[in-house]
Amino acid sequence: MIQVGLMGGTFDPIHYGHLLAAESAREACGLDEVWFIPSSTPPLKPNAPYAEPQERLEMVYRAIDFQPYFRAMDIELERGGVSYTADTVRELKDLYPGRAFSIIVGADRINDLPQWHQIRELSELATFIALERPGVIMNDKDLPDFLRGKVRRCEMPQIGISSTLIRERRSQGRSIRFLTPDKVYQFIRRNGLYES
Ligand code: ATP
Ligand code: MG
Repeated sequence: MIQVGLMGGTFDPIHYGHLLAAESAREACGLDEVWFIPSSTPPLKPNAPYAEPQERLEMVYRAIDFQPYFRAMDIELERGGVSYTADTVRELKDLYPGRAFSIIVGADRINDLPQWHQIRELSELATFIALERPGVIMNDKDLPDFLRGKVRRCEMPQIGISSTLIRERRSQGRSIRFLTPDKVYQFIRRNGLYES
């Protein structure tokens, strides 16, 4: 089985926290590839996203450019509507037999895992890789029994960067240089994204 990590997110915009999380999961869990999947409308984020779908996808492409193990997929943007990981994994399993999927999630998302749409079915289709995130305590001891054995914890150098931080800094006219790869930074500036 080819081991594939799925890195889902709004990527509004993608930043070094996402890239390092993906790389850390790949290395620690022996993943062959990590697929970055921007969501269309995220279920648990009422005001998001801010940038257009094609802009978020373009920033992902720019960030992972030339990385041999990383790939971007527009499967959720194509499907449109609210993006549920369970739908995505079902679709991917049909499209790519012979691959085993692990869902890569930061500590904040591990904590809300029990609320995910069709989480029981999803936990039969894939496993989870949980990464620590600064300022977030991972309550994986509180996970329901059917999930606990399905979540593998993985360490990473802690990075206190979020897309929210980048958007806030942009709207305040502050620098976002070095929080995200230069090609993403240039794209944000050139297109005037996240300005107030
Ligand atoms: P926002 O501030 O808009 O919520 P975000 O930075 O949290 O953006 P998301 O697109 O919400 O990014 O997150 C996608 C995935 O990446 C989630 O699983 C999230 O937990 C993880 N992630 C994001 N930033 C980090 C980070 N700095 N360290 C570890 N994981 C991260
Ligand atoms: Mg987030």
